[in-house]
Amino acid sequence: MDEYVKNWEAVLNKLEMMVSAVSFDLWIKPLELLEFKNGSTLVLGASSTTAKNQILKNHADKLSECILDVFGEGVGYEILDQNEKQEYLKDTVVVEPAVEAREEHPNKGMFNSKYTFDNFVVGKSNQFVYAAARAVAEHPGQKFNPLFIYGGVGLGKTHLLHAIGNYIHEHMPDLKIMYATCEKFTNDYIESLRSNKENETIEFREKYRNLDVLMIDDIQFISNKTSTQEEFFHTFNELYQNNKQIIISSDRPPKEIATLEERLSSRFTCGLIQDIQSPDFETRVAILRKKSQQERYLIDDEVIEFIAEKVDTNIREMEGLLAKVYFFATLLGKKIAGIEEAKEALKETIEKKKEDLNPNIIIECVCDYFNISKADIVGKKKSKEIVEPRMIAIYLISELIDIPLISIGKYFGGRDHTTIIHARDKITDQVKNNIRMANTVKDIENMFSGYVNK
Ligand code: ADP
Ligand code: MG
Repeated sequence: MDEYVKNWEAVLNKLEMMVSAVSFDLWIKPLELLEFKNGSTLVLGASSTTAKNQILKNHADKLSECILDVFGEGVGYEILDQNEKQEYLKDTVVVEPAVEAREEHPNKGMFNSKYTFDNFVVGKSNQFVYAAARAVAEHPGQKFNPLFIYGGVGLGKTHLLHAIGNYIHEHMPDLKIMYATCEKFTNDYIESLRSNKENETIEFREKYRNLDVLMIDDIQFISNKTSTQEEFFHTFNELYQNNKQIIISSDRPPKEIATLEERLSSRFTCGLIQDIQSPDFETRVAILRKKSQQERYLIDDEVIEFIAEKVDTNIREMEGLLAKVYFFATLLGKKIAGIEEAKEALKETIEKKKEDLNPNIIIECVCDYFNISKADIVGKKKSKEIVEPRMIAIYLISELIDIPLISIGKYFGGRDHTTIIHARDKITDQVKNNIRMANTVKDIENMFSGYVNK
């Protein structure tokens, strides 16, 4: 099969995870790849004018994004409706044969081939979760079931799920695996209800229950969706009772998923709940090196360290900066991206970061307001003069900064998340019920603008 045909399939697979199941089945999946014109334009035939318009109106950005991801820069697309297609085929001698229907190994293409165990850099922050994922991949249904992986954005959860999928697909091709984002699971379920046909529901159940391995990515989005939770609960039980492997990821531990039903939450605890932490500096450097090799970027080691210093949590963001530097250097015609190019390319991104409020700024403000030291506020002292400011700082961080509660503890000497939740809840309550506390918090918030960009 030609490379571009494989790539197009990869684009479809990506898109499938990004748009609703209805849109995908109705508009996108039927697209016919007519030609890869001049190696730069995918000519796509839509099944109708409506299909063409729907895609252009609602999915054009996502389509471009996936094409960019898979084909790289400089590749575009063109969509033809039926009439345009006739015209086009008349005028064009199509050299490449039209694509045969998507051939089916059910697992094929479900997993991103870059997300493997080999490409996953192991360090202190993720060694346990890596070992657990590996054990589950090697012995699905037998080791840790369910495996619940949680951690902040861009720390490798999806990568690990795909790594498990790729591994099982390669070594145990007969096993039926299903990877779905929570959103996809929800949409599939809602659709099966909406269609109001009994066989749709049966199909849904067939799809999610007749499996050896089920993975649901980003389960936190199930909160507030009562009927989906109910359905997931039954899916879970059915698979679990039959010793089928279940793997779940989330940006926070089960207990912190608001409105997650108790019975579902306690199901998760019967397996292994494992967190994935932000990588330390050495691991960040190793990840960036690996990424450069993989993408064949030529990048100075100094640049890698520079980026690893600037970004200390989100790996996805780090990879984005790496690509930015590389492309910037390429534009300048440099063979190897050096530190000068990196500073230039990342100037805005890094300056912008400075403007943003972050936990350290909040801690600094709170310390100044109460005239206490940073060592005390993050330390162990239990006197009222220190405890209250500490709780206020925790509260403000949880309110104003978009990080999971579990990550806040690390700014306070590694306090565990129950302490963090306690502090947050206590101050939340006081702000509501105590005018003095409400004013204190307001005063501190008013100080922030003088502290960012300092
Ligand atoms: P999450 O699902 O936790 O938000 P992803 O799995 O999407 O994060 O990871 C974000 C990016 O970082 C991906 O490109 C992934 O390959 C990369 N990444 C994360 N952790 C590692 C690691 N330990 N080694 C190599 N790449 C990693
Ligand atoms: Mg993810």
